[in-house]
Amino acid sequence: MTTKLSEGAKTVPNSVCDVVVIGAGPAGLLAAGRAAMLGARVLLLEKMEKPARKLRITGKGRANITNMRPLEAHLQEIHPEPRFLRQAFQAFFNRHLIALLEKYGVETKTERGDRVFPASDRAWDVAEALVDWAKAHGVEIVRHAKVESLVTHEGAFTGLVFTRTHLGPQTIEARCGIIATGGQSYPATGSTGDGFRFAEATGHRIEALRPSLVGIETRPVHESAQGLTVKNVQLTLWLDGKKHCSEFGEAEFTAKGLGGPIVLRLSRKIVDAMAAGRKVEVTLDLKPALDPPKLEARLLREFDAHTCDTCRNLLRALLPTQLVEVFSDALGLDPAGPSEQVKGLKRKKLLNLLKELRFEVTGHGSWEEAIVTAGGVSLKDIDPRTMASKKIDNLYFAGEVIDLDANTGGYNLQIAFSTGWLAGESAARRAVGLTSGVLS
Ligand SMILES: Cc1cc2nc3c(=O)[nH]c(=O)nc-3n(C[C@H](O)[C@H](O)[C@H](O)COP(=O)(O)OP(=O)(O)OC[C@H]3O[C@@H](n4cnc5c(N)ncnc54)[C@H](O)[C@@H]3O)c2cc1C
Repeated sequence: MTTKLSEGAKTVPNSVCDVVVIGAGPAGLLAAGRAAMLGARVLLLEKMEKPARKLRITGKGRANITNMRPLEAHLQEIHPEPRFLRQAFQAFFNRHLIALLEKYGVETKTERGDRVFPASDRAWDVAEALVDWAKAHGVEIVRHAKVESLVTHEGAFTGLVFTRTHLGPQTIEARCGIIATGGQSYPATGSTGDGFRFAEATGHRIEALRPSLVGIETRPVHESAQGLTVKNVQLTLWLDGKKHCSEFGEAEFTAKGLGGPIVLRLSRKIVDAMAAGRKVEVTLDLKPALDPPKLEARLLREFDAHTCDTCRNLLRALLPTQLVEVFSDALGLDPAGPSEQVKGLKRKKLLNLLKELRFEVTGHGSWEEAIVTAGGVSLKDIDPRTMASKKIDNLYFAGEVIDLDANTGGYNLQIAFSTGWLAGESAARRAVGLTSGVLS
């Protein structure tokens, strides 16, 4: 490749590469590899030491890479405009990803909720396989290369300016550019929102950026329960005093409030409601399988079984130990005192608390803690058939930089892989003038 950038090179030879991709995350790797597969000379610029830093920590280090649910079910998990992804998913979906990874030595397995993981449980293996795949197709990956700005001429992308460690700004010309810089959550991984600035500077609209899939801060915070995970519970979101929606599954009591899968799933709505100045509350139903009459019957059985016992032991029969103090305080009980205390109104109150442990939501986690960025480059400015910008010729977008995000379950990575593939394919066709033909 004529644009070869050896480590320590001070200048970039005055030659033009076909496709330059900014950011070697999952979207950038797929975009670069696919473009190279189609014969384009591809340069992939990554500002960090290692490509795909974020991918390597996904799924608690296990990488929930995709989900085996059918396309229509995938779309239901995506915001704000799922239909935007139809073509990208048709071009490259879960089965394509699995086949690609298997070819590069990564076997996969499907777990509860149709979530797909590498069989090794190592996100690292997925990242290395994608790097190997891109390189095998001839992609040149340049590390420590931080793109500073795009160069455009008469409404078309023509190149970019980047810096490398100890070197001043360098300009590179390219026929097409792909912005795959990710969002701005977990900035230590390299995703610091640079792509939003490049897009905005070249006339694209940016939909408001918000942290999503993030824990919440509540009043009260139940300190004695910190670290406790409760399974098979139901969390209901209340906006301005009205029931809005519920999620069933697992929640966690944290140092600042609540976290865990069902909280993350509701977090998008919570963050938006708070930004809109609405009163936000959540209630936790610790016994969703029992309606009030059934729970009442269960309570009576437990009272019979604990007649000469302490309150603490009675509550322990109904609750995780770490919640006994929370409930004793709320009901005004002495945990060491007799279980007799829990009668009449207090029993009614206990039943209500088990069904509706209420929290006022006072805040949410920061960018450092959010799994994804909601908002981004407006879908109105991107062609869903190609991922091409509608504002600047020869410029494409892929991955989390786009105003798309999804629930947990492997959907966010699949968005990155699919949009990356389609952007790479479209850019290569544009750059090397491919017109038709089925390409492997
Ligand atoms: C803790 C955590 C766990 C997650 N777990 C899962 C999971 O299990 N399943 C799932 O589906 N999703 C998960 N996600 C979300 C998923 O990781 C992201 O949606 C996905 O990585 C987005 O891919 P991307 O390629 O668009 O961006 P990124 O992965 O953010 O990659 C962007 C790349 O661009 C580089 N870059 C940025 N600016 C520049 C610049 N100016 N010049 C050069 N390079 C630049 C960055 O260094 C980075 O390498 C998780 C996220 C986090 C934070």
